[in-house]
Amino acid sequence: MRTVTVVGASLSGVYAARELRAQGFDGRLVIVGEEPHRPYDRPPLSKDFLTGKADEEDLALADAEETAGLDAEWLLGVRARGLDARGRTVLLGDGRTVSTDGVVIATGASARRLPGDALMGVHTLRTLDDARVLRDELADGPRHVVVIGGGFIGAETASSCTALGHDVTVVEAASLPLVPQLGPEMAAVCATLHRRGGAALVTGTGVARLHGRAGGVTGVELSDGRVLPADTVIVGIGATPNTGWTAGSTLRLHDGVLCDDGCVTGLPQVVAVGDVARVGGRRVEHWTSATEQPRVAVRNLLAGRTVESVRSVPYFWSDQYGARIQFAGRRHDGDTVRLTEGALSEDGPAEGGFLAVYERDGRTTAVLSVDRPRPFTRARRALMRAASEVQPTVP
Ligand code: FAD
Ligand code: NAP
Repeated sequence: MRTVTVVGASLSGVYAARELRAQGFDGRLVIVGEEPHRPYDRPPLSKDFLTGKADEEDLALADAEETAGLDAEWLLGVRARGLDARGRTVLLGDGRTVSTDGVVIATGASARRLPGDALMGVHTLRTLDDARVLRDELADGPRHVVVIGGGFIGAETASSCTALGHDVTVVEAASLPLVPQLGPEMAAVCATLHRRGGAALVTGTGVARLHGRAGGVTGVELSDGRVLPADTVIVGIGATPNTGWTAGSTLRLHDGVLCDDGCVTGLPQVVAVGDVARVGGRRVEHWTSATEQPRVAVRNLLAGRTVESVRSVPYFWSDQYGARIQFAGRRHDGDTVRLTEGALSEDGPAEGGFLAVYERDGRTTAVLSVDRPRPFTRARRALMRAASEVQPTVP
């Protein structure tokens, strides 16, 4: 393999580039990134960057020394727009082509949009450019902020906006936010954080349309007819994997690039990692998976076939209203949830937080903590040990 092209110059792309060098690839390494910026980390965008506690320099994923050490050709500010049928040529948006022997697809996901969201004051939050615009607007005096979607973006931006002193309402179509991730019992506990943090939470009603005047948003009309006044609207209704550029290739797509358990696509010289990759039937949209998959993907890419599977236990954290939520494992509907440390008060987590364990047939499937990092880490390690004892099948 003389040339490897990494498409997507963000978290999983940088980790893949690091792994290529760490695993001995000394050929030509090309990194293509649509954004003009050097790789940066997204989690602070909804948290400390929005509140002004972190700046752009704090977001860098690699310093100058490490970047130089990768000895890569960086093609930034240019989009990959196609991949030939054999996966040997990457077509770029500016008309250039890159001939390559291997490809790492690391193109992540984009924020889902809401119809009519072109009004001024309506934002999605996925990129540094999105965050800059929103941060400037929020610094411009007190505002009525309506957050559409009570998922991660919704909860974290609502928390940041209340910390900045804005009047905040979160609208969630389901009866509780974060049920798919946490299950109903713990989703109900985490939902209390909104009220305690000073944001209103409206659940069980969708959004009918946005109201505007002179090109700017003025309100959000709910499907039950209520209109919430708004001069800033943040839309956090999920993300869509960036696979469009591979249309016309022979890759199989279905809500992501389909890969085996080792991140290998239907072509042995093309692997996919991070938010865009559906690995062994699952697509995970969290930071830790995007940093763990590249080691296995690169190993398989350099081997020319799947010699290792990803065996990690999914993990995410989220910072909301001063509380740190951590979750590891795979919960399923019907799992029983048991509090093993700490306590719940009537209005949510008691002082000092708690640790909860999800169980099925006497086995722990997942763990969740609020502000209990040490016992959580122990429980997460136990889950990881248990997972490593089970040998997954490689198709
Ligand atoms: P991305 O970060 O989406 O990067 C993909 C890159 O590819 C982008 O730069 C994109 O421009 C580029 N690209 C797309 N298409 C093309 C193309 N055709 N050609 C060239 N380049 C292309 N996870 C957690 O676990 N905890 C958190 O607290 C947390 N906070 C988050 C906060 C925010 C605001 C966001 C947006 C995400 C957060 N996440 C968090 C999720 C985490 O950041 C993602 O899982 C991670 O960024 C995925 O990395 P990735 O490299 O796969 O994809
Ligand atoms: P998300 O976590 O999938 O949450 C989207 C939420 O919006 C869901 O609760 C969804 O409800 C709701 N929703 C969907 N359509 C809606 C509509 N029309 N009106 C009102 N609510 C609607 O996605 P996200 O919060 O937008 O985050 C985007 C991506 O960034 C995800 O990949 C996420 O994992 C990642 N991220 C992660 C973190 C973290 O891990 N801490 C932080 C920020 C971002 P239903 O479930 O009922 O559809």
